[in-house]
Amino acid sequence: MARKIGSRYTAHQILGRGSAGTVWLGEGPEGPCAIKLLREDLASDQELVGRFVQERTALLGLEHPNVVSVRDLVVDGNDLALVMDLVRGTDLRTRLERERRLAPESAVAIVADVADGLAAAHASGVVHRDVKPENVLLDMQGPLGPGGSHPALLTDFGVAKLIDSPKRTRATRIIGTPDYLAPEIVEGLPPRAAVDIYALATVLYELLAGFTPFGGGHPGAVLRRHVTETVVPLPGIPDELWQLVVQCLAKAPASRLRASELAARLRELLPMLAGMPPLDVDEPDADTDADAAEEPREDPSAAPSAPDAERIRRRGAVPLVPGAKPDSNRDTHTSMRVPAPDELAGGARGTARAPRATGAPRPGSARHRAAARRRRVTLGVAGVVLAAVLGLGAWWATSGDGGSAPPDDSNHSTPTSP
Ligand code: ADP
Repeated sequence: MARKIGSRYTAHQILGRGSAGTVWLGEGPEGPCAIKLLREDLASDQELVGRFVQERTALLGLEHPNVVSVRDLVVDGNDLALVMDLVRGTDLRTRLERERRLAPESAVAIVADVADGLAAAHASGVVHRDVKPENVLLDMQGPLGPGGSHPALLTDFGVAKLIDSPKRTRATRIIGTPDYLAPEIVEGLPPRAAVDIYALATVLYELLAGFTPFGGGHPGAVLRRHVTETVVPLPGIPDELWQLVVQCLAKAPASRLRASELAARLRELLPMLAGMPPLDVDEPDADTDADAAEEPREDPSAAPSAPDAERIRRRGAVPLVPGAKPDSNRDTHTSMRVPAPDELAGGARGTARAPRATGAPRPGSARHRAAARRRRVTLGVAGVVLAAVLGLGAWWATSGDGGSAPPDDSNHSTPTSP
């Protein structure tokens, strides 16, 4: 089913659907192209159409091997479309879903490509604002690079900015995808280049681990973790690589690396990572939640123990956005509210979901709890024995004659187990 887009383009078939619209395989005067037809509600927004035209120069000016170039912008009746270079391949989300985790060399090569693309964009004053695996395309017709990865190109430049009209998002609203949002955005600061670095470091972590460092549960909970929690090392990750991840996930934007530095530092690590298999980590929370659902608490009326409380906190909705329904954390959100400072302070500063090495008992699992119970019993018995020994010793010392006199209860407290 062919469809005319403006006077110069024809859309032939749908390549994919995204949050801002549908991407078509198209044909234009310069040959095959990809045409992103923006959603109807976006296309009928007059203010957005105005910005679309205003942004034209910035969007069209970005040319880099790791950026999907926008060739044309079309405003035609009810249609609002971006005409882009066609990338023959797949997006990074699809690859990640297929492989679950990438080998470090592959992950680093892909992220270094994206960092190069970002460096070019940042140099021309463009911030992407929605870096995530869905927006990274892998060009299967390009040459194979380190780790057998095809060249990676960042797409959807400028789309977040276009959608972020004052009317649509206002000063108190956030646009982006919760899992990848830098803490300064959550706190309501304007997005600068460092937000892309934070998002890209989140992508790198996700490629290595199979899950994002602060994701899971209600979007409000995810936003709060970005601000209050620290990231936990992945088992088996080489220290040099981990240091880069940590530096780019820094809460303070100024502490993060610049895109060009990040690309260079990642490429330096490639020889060391050659041949290394994907990391052996299990996602911590999904299992924990399953256990929590299956295993009744020993005394349901008792206050939850610290680990239980933590599990409940993780599982339950944290209503930073009153009335908002939990949804996929992977969609670009156009109406998240900036949480108030007191809402952000609602959770204790903590450590993000701790990944564990395969084979170690899951926190909250039956095996983990049995081990904890065993430790408690051992400690209890040890406490009783120690207290009894101390009590006897004290009685021995005060009786002065080697223990012939009975202990005086008024002077000696009865040893009790802790
Ligand atoms: P999202 O809004 O989730 O970021 P997009 O709307 O950008 O997604 O794209 C949806 C899908 O369309 C992508 O997953 C990809 O498969 C395909 N696609 C997007 N841009 C291109 C392109 N330039 N060339 C080929 N396929 C593309």
